[in-house]
Amino acid sequence: MTALLEVEDLRVAYGKIEAVKGISFSVEAGQVVTLIGTNGAGKTTTLRTLSGLLKPSGGRISFDGKPLAGVPAHKIVSLGLAHSPEGRHIFPRLTIAENLQLGAFLRTDKAGIEKDIQKAYDLFPILGERRKQASGTLSGGEQQMLAMGRALMSQPKLLMLDEPSMGLSPIMMQKIMETIIELKAQGTTILLVEQNAQAALSLADHGHVMEVGEIKLTGSGQDLLHDENVRKTYLGED
Ligand code: ATP
Repeated sequence: MTALLEVEDLRVAYGKIEAVKGISFSVEAGQVVTLIGTNGAGKTTTLRTLSGLLKPSGGRISFDGKPLAGVPAHKIVSLGLAHSPEGRHIFPRLTIAENLQLGAFLRTDKAGIEKDIQKAYDLFPILGERRKQASGTLSGGEQQMLAMGRALMSQPKLLMLDEPSMGLSPIMMQKIMETIIELKAQGTTILLVEQNAQAALSLADHGHVMEVGEIKLTGSGQDLLHDENVRKTYLGED
């Protein structure tokens, strides 16, 4: 069986600086796969390349059996790959409901869109309660919920989440992680980029540890969680 997403020897450069230096990994349908690693390891660059926002300098990406090389970003969304970016990038002046509707901009099935907005409110009740408010009034954690809800509105086959726990309180972070577990239980396939290695590895089927543009270690979430080097370097243990 071929995986939903296959990345082979992917290279991405900013000018002369190679930020991603030939990485390979795959994501099977139904899995949660995480990329962890310190600042600057190349995780965000990898996601932005998969979304079509950056052009690879080498390698192959195949999604749902099709090569993604040269496919523009909006087309990649329509193929079923959604991206909840680092820093959320919601539209603060628009209401929560409007932000969610924007996530469905490629869809024409009005009834289906309404149903999925309701699903987002079921997943994140606070969004339903505040649906008519400007999104800029939400807390950081609530904005993260909105960014995830908006990405889900395109009915993705693969949901990519970049640093969903960034800048959140421990309680809010816990809530976001629980939601990822819930989405996984519903069968959503997720590629999760996180600096919080403990949280990400605890819920992931597979993990890859990135360091300066390369994948240094690969394993199941549980194996990596118990790996001595990972514990020392990423989980802050002595
Ligand atoms: P972070 O968690 O800080 O986002 P990351 O693992 O996601 O880290 P990237 O943001 O992908 O890392 O950055 C990888 C490397 O590419 C870093 O050395 C970074 O400085 C560099 N880089 C990122 N964006 C640009 C850019 N627009 N122009 C030049 N270099 C960049």
